[in-house]
Amino acid sequence: MKKLNEEVLSRRTFAIISHPDAGKTTLTEKLLLFGGAIRDAGTVKAKKTGKFATSDWMEIEKQRGISVTSSVMQFDYDGFRVNILDTPGHQDFSEDTYRTLTAVDSAVMIIDSAKGIEEQTLKLFKVCRMRGIPIFTFINKLDRQGKSPLELLAELEEVMGIESYPMNWPIGMGKEFLGIYDRFHNRVEQFRVEEDERFISLTEDGEIAGDHKLKENSLYDQMLEEIMLLNEAGNEFSEERINNGELTPVFFGSALTNFGVQTFLEAYLKFAPEPQPRNSTSGPVDPLSEDFSGFVFKIQANMNPAHRDRIAFLRICSGSFERGMSVTLSRTGKPIKLAQSTQFMADDRSTVDEAVAGDIIGLYDPGVYQIGDTIVSEKELFHYEKLPQFTPELFVRVTAKNVMKQKHFHKGIQQLVQEGAIQLFKTVKTDEYLLGAVGQLQFEVFEHRMKNEYNVEVIMERVGSKIARWIENDEINDNLSSSRSLLVKDRFDKKAFLFENEFALRWFQDKNPEVKLYNPMDMQ
Ligand code: GDP
Repeated sequence: MKKLNEEVLSRRTFAIISHPDAGKTTLTEKLLLFGGAIRDAGTVKAKKTGKFATSDWMEIEKQRGISVTSSVMQFDYDGFRVNILDTPGHQDFSEDTYRTLTAVDSAVMIIDSAKGIEEQTLKLFKVCRMRGIPIFTFINKLDRQGKSPLELLAELEEVMGIESYPMNWPIGMGKEFLGIYDRFHNRVEQFRVEEDERFISLTEDGEIAGDHKLKENSLYDQMLEEIMLLNEAGNEFSEERINNGELTPVFFGSALTNFGVQTFLEAYLKFAPEPQPRNSTSGPVDPLSEDFSGFVFKIQANMNPAHRDRIAFLRICSGSFERGMSVTLSRTGKPIKLAQSTQFMADDRSTVDEAVAGDIIGLYDPGVYQIGDTIVSEKELFHYEKLPQFTPELFVRVTAKNVMKQKHFHKGIQQLVQEGAIQLFKTVKTDEYLLGAVGQLQFEVFEHRMKNEYNVEVIMERVGSKIARWIENDEINDNLSSSRSLLVKDRFDKKAFLFENEFALRWFQDKNPEVKLYNPMDMQ
């Protein structure tokens, strides 16, 4: 094995953020093909459409054609080891995505050139911005007629408020897409041209030397004019500003036709940050430190129905992991031996023996981990920063259809709640189970998984509550509970009120000023 330093510095760990249908699956697949991680085009795609045999562990993904769980893909390219963290596209699962974004060092944002910036992309962009994550932009589907490239850059600036630096520039688009002018490599890459003739090197002035049929096309002249405009009035390239998340390098291309993807990958690897230090209760932790540490950002049960296991996804933040090593779980102070671990490539899991800062490993979880847990190899315990928590806005009362199935029902609820997709509450007076979520689809996934993985049919009834507020001081008169202000306990036994609406919340606060309420999201 190379020296730890070299290993860590070769890692590039990112997530792709986009609105559904912008081309995330297609781009991921092309990247994996370059890295030799998959042999056939269609592997990732097939996973999504459900034709891929080994991926049918998540029935609901097949039925809905949406990706509801994050997975991790790894490949080597040009001396780099790349980790791509997949994120669910559907907005009901944005909580999962937000947590995944805590585990990356950069993000790739895909924009459909015809649609421009879409809602979900904007939301995820804002999270990256807030966290200072460097963003690389891939404007996709240039083989189709879309918005003009200048219009798209203006949108980035106006809607997102981020400055951009186009690394390349399209020559025409749609039926008249001729290729890209690559400012970074100072060459033109032609669309649908055989490999030996695809690239044309440019002179120092950035022009094609001598005669070339491309020069006869008015789209080429138009592109040159636009490039001149960019050179004069556009933003300057700055690696520092890219790293601070202030400037996004922009790449144009077409994932489906595999055009501009390799160029993108190579430039991305050159400029994307290596594993970054992460804040902890003992200050920022250097990824190059010899001491192993990491945090759990996701827990998933039963990825493979053949094994009834749970996997805790750990981002390694410092040092290196070795199979069988002994570590401490900071929350409990208890030692754990990391005997079984797993690495991910789409759904083919293989065992990992060694991994370093920047990598993601899956740990078999017999029920000891919680989302946000820190694991350290040192004697000194510390905790990484808390992960973003969402306040649920939808609530259902849940019971088992068959009372004989209580045991399975409780087990299923406990495990699925620990994954973090739904939150569990118990009414203080009547001991009923309530589930809270950010999106309706999370309940549907819950119901489906209870049935398929725990063999329990559940009954879910919607309750009117929409707002959850925790109570600062747990000493509370239970009689303040009513249908409009329902007193509940969360799974850590912290008390909270569920209110029907803003009006009920204000009314309650007016009547009971001594009760101090808070929203955990305001404290992040
Ligand atoms: P995701 O929902 O973001 O994962 O998007 P997909 O990768 O599944 O792509 C959505 C649709 O757009 C699919 O029908 C793709 O074939 C299509 N698509 C993706 N990239 C391109 C592209 O470069 N050009 C065109 N014309 N279609 C594309």
